[in-house]
Amino acid sequence: MSKKCVGCGVELQSEDKNKSGYLPKSALENKNNKGKDLYCQRCFKIKNYGEYIPVEMTREDYRREVHETIEDVDLVLAVFDVIDFEGSFDDEILDILREKESIVVLNKIDLIPGEKHPSEVADWAKYRLGEEGIAPLDIAIVSSKNTYGISGIYKKINHFFPKRAKVAVLGVTNVGKSSIINRLVGQKIATESKYPGTTLKSSKKKLTNANITLIDTPGLIPEGRFSDLVCENCNLDIVPSMEISRKTYKEGKDRVIFIGGLVKIRIIGDNELKPIFSVYASKNVSYHDTNLEKAEELIASNRSDLFYPPCKSCLDDLKKEEIVTEKFEIETGEEIVFKGLAWLSVKRGPLNIEITYPKKGEIIIRKAFIKPKR
Ligand code: GDP
Repeated sequence: MSKKCVGCGVELQSEDKNKSGYLPKSALENKNNKGKDLYCQRCFKIKNYGEYIPVEMTREDYRREVHETIEDVDLVLAVFDVIDFEGSFDDEILDILREKESIVVLNKIDLIPGEKHPSEVADWAKYRLGEEGIAPLDIAIVSSKNTYGISGIYKKINHFFPKRAKVAVLGVTNVGKSSIINRLVGQKIATESKYPGTTLKSSKKKLTNANITLIDTPGLIPEGRFSDLVCENCNLDIVPSMEISRKTYKEGKDRVIFIGGLVKIRIIGDNELKPIFSVYASKNVSYHDTNLEKAEELIASNRSDLFYPPCKSCLDDLKKEEIVTEKFEIETGEEIVFKGLAWLSVKRGPLNIEITYPKKGEIIIRKAFIKPKR
């Protein structure tokens, strides 16, 4: 009988080192390993050395796998990153949520700066999901990092399915899906990693002392995340792991603000009162504000200390991307989101800006998540 890797769920094989599920024959056929949980070499390296070994899996492969899995489940547990809520949206997942009974899990609550009550976050998320035509059975606010709210997920599933539940866990890459499953199962089994796309095949996990079967699915790589336009190392810096940073600006016409080297914002409005707004992103993303003239000089100078990310090695790739410039007007109490990178929240508007960015990155305007303090 074929064996599966307990980390990523893929079938183990000893034939091809470069394909997923590889484990040397000596380990796969070792009698001492009989009945033991086995990891493929890739998961073993991610788990023990933090190494990343990319494998080829197309979006179509991901899709097929997820759809097969959700066919006969009672419930979908959809994991979203609270800091990158819209970056966690993927049409595929949103469509499933419109059809299937679901509980939405908002992870990484520990990253939210300042005081914000979880019920406020839940109300905000409910509103945003409602705008997308999604009404989950419930919303769980959690942090898999410090275990906040994890037992609440289990209670919510039990509440809706007291006898038995077969639950598919869905989420795009990097939202913390594996970390949550590991917390729920109470063991470090699924391969949890800083790198996107670690789970390759759906794999079943039974919750101890409960009639709940969790089925982990591969993470889809969503479209439109700025963090997916840069190299692995820059990606790690963009996805925040500690508290995020906030910088507040009061800027007039023709001031220019850079978010890393990925987004250039030029103020075009000429309000009597200068607009006030805050920018939120990972602490490793640099912000720089200057005037229009200097901005051009600085861009030409390729100052990676001012415009990080991208790093030098992925800057050339990024330069090949189509760059667009678009105008936006953001009202007081609204914010503009650069998926997977940052968001800008307007305290005193309207804020009229012109944004220059790689076309593949998606930008949306939403009701404020964190209202900047007066
Ligand atoms: P997956 O790709 O969705 O399975 O995500 P992982 O579980 O591998 O987590 C992706 C990254 O997010 C890792 O660096 C985790 O340490 C980090 N992470 C996951 N959950 C949390 C959380 O609750 N808080 C914080 N701060 N980081 C988290």
